[in-house]
Amino acid sequence: MTTRTGGSVAPVLELRSVGRIHGRGEVRVQALAEVNLTVVPGELLAVMGPSGSGKSTLLMLAGGLDTPTDGEVLVEGQPLGALGRRRLAALRRRSVGYVFQDLNLLPALTAAENVALPLELDGGSIRKARSAAQAALTEVGLEHFGERFPDDMSGGQQQRVAIARALVGARRLVLADEPTGALDSTTGEAVLRVLRARCEAGAAVVLVTHEARHAAWADRIVFLRDGRLVDDTGHTASAESLLSRGGSR
Ligand code: ADP
Ligand code: MG
Repeated sequence: MTTRTGGSVAPVLELRSVGRIHGRGEVRVQALAEVNLTVVPGELLAVMGPSGSGKSTLLMLAGGLDTPTDGEVLVEGQPLGALGRRRLAALRRRSVGYVFQDLNLLPALTAAENVALPLELDGGSIRKARSAAQAALTEVGLEHFGERFPDDMSGGQQQRVAIARALVGARRLVLADEPTGALDSTTGEAVLRVLRARCEAGAAVVLVTHEARHAAWADRIVFLRDGRLVDDTGHTASAESLLSRGGSR
């Protein structure tokens, strides 16, 4: 594994021959098959593909929120399948930031409380969690909205709160499922700039998007079709043979 600078570096995320089958019998769906993928520190990877191609499934597996039926997922070199429930939960809280497609903000908590939650759950000091939350809200341009409740914010603001929650603290792996969905194009660009800055600070980011102009911010783009990684000619390919492209930033 080599980086853009040519040095050797341990991947933050690795999928080894990962498959995921949902259901069984007549409702059996092969959501992912034989996916090999490596994301290194500093890398922004975009995942594209039609609806139902397995993008969200891939992200859930990468974040340890779902378990593969084949192969293995490693985060910071740790095979998730070998971790017990408690250690997996701790790794998710400390290392992984997740922006869900449907946001999942808690309506009873303010924006700042939503963002601080992963750190507070982890048992850190509340004061530190709150100041980290304020920093993350500032990163997404919501420094004055910490005391608002999600229901009193626009869709775009709620989405930025969800992004701040994924970024709070020192997350090494940020997984974002169509995070620019409810954002106008200017705010969408601002969010991508934030994700890009996190990469420059050493995180690995996986971004699911259907917008080519957002994928253009990525170091590398992979495509899913029917649960398989394909190259841009539509042929099934291993991750290694997929073209590596520089983003047009
Ligand atoms: P995408 O995010 O690209 O739209 P998904 O990963 O959500 O795709 O879904 C991939 C396939 O797996 C789809 O056919 C979907 O219907 C199926 N699928 C996803 N989650 C489940 C589930 N929990 N139970 C059954 N089928 C599922
Ligand atoms: Mg999806």
